Amino acid sequence: MPRFFVEQPLAGEFLLDGEAGRHGAKVLRLRPGEAVTLCDGKGTDYPSTVKENTGDSLLLRVGEAVPSRGEPETEVTVCQCLPKGDKLETVAQKSVELGARRVWPIESRFCVAKWEEKSQAKKLARLRKIALEAAMQSGRGTVPQVLPPTDLRSALEAAVREGEVLFLYEKAVLGLKSALKGTGSRLFLFVGPEGGFAPEEAALAESLGAKSVSLGPRILRTETAPLVALAAILYEKGEMEL
Ligand code: SAM
Repeated sequence: MPRFFVEQPLAGEFLLDGEAGRHGAKVLRLRPGEAVTLCDGKGTDYPSTVKENTGDSLLLRVGEAVPSRGEPETEVTVCQCLPKGDKLETVAQKSVELGARRVWPIESRFCVAKWEEKSQAKKLARLRKIALEAAMQSGRGTVPQVLPPTDLRSALEAAVREGEVLFLYEKAVLGLKSALKGTGSRLFLFVGPEGGFAPEEAALAESLGAKSVSLGPRILRTETAPLVALAAILYEKGEMEL
């Protein structure tokens, strides 16, 4: 069912205009009587029906508020060290589908990819568009944030203040299942770039209170590891049940 995120208060009739309205009216060609879901981006859905397609907007009849079913209670921030090429777009899209709350690009020592100052805004805008589209497609109750790129130390220091940090490190011995025992609902998942983390980066993470975590004996690509870990975490936390 088509899903649109809107900020305005929702009751009675609602004119969905702008880019979302054009998409619904022109691309999806929604007709009167067809069902759509409006979401306030704060975890509440409004099942609605199309009253009129005006050609570039939709007049909707808004139904009763219900909690969004697609929003995990466990808030995982995927802290992905900048990978090469367009891998970060794949990580952002799949992380949102899986249920990540935020995606945070991280600059670490072995990152080959570098974000030039002048292109940062454009890259962020593209990632945020990908996150919005993935949230619409997967039925999320919020639009996960994509944060501006941050150096590893600053990100680790902020993360340990806000929640619990799982630092994916292939030299670690602690398995994910054990690492999750006793954890709460605000988790930060750090993933290295293609070249991995330097030993001193792992030592820094541990000194700040992060848990170094192994995903087992196989070495996963930088774009595979966050998705595997995110899915396993949400499964372990019971977030994959209806
Ligand atoms: N340094 C690795 C090597 O020498 O082959 C390559 C790094 S791997 C491609 C990219 C990142 O994925 C790692 O930094 C780590 O965060 C995560 N990762 C991949 N496999 C892992 C595993 N088995 N256990 C823990 N983390 C893993």
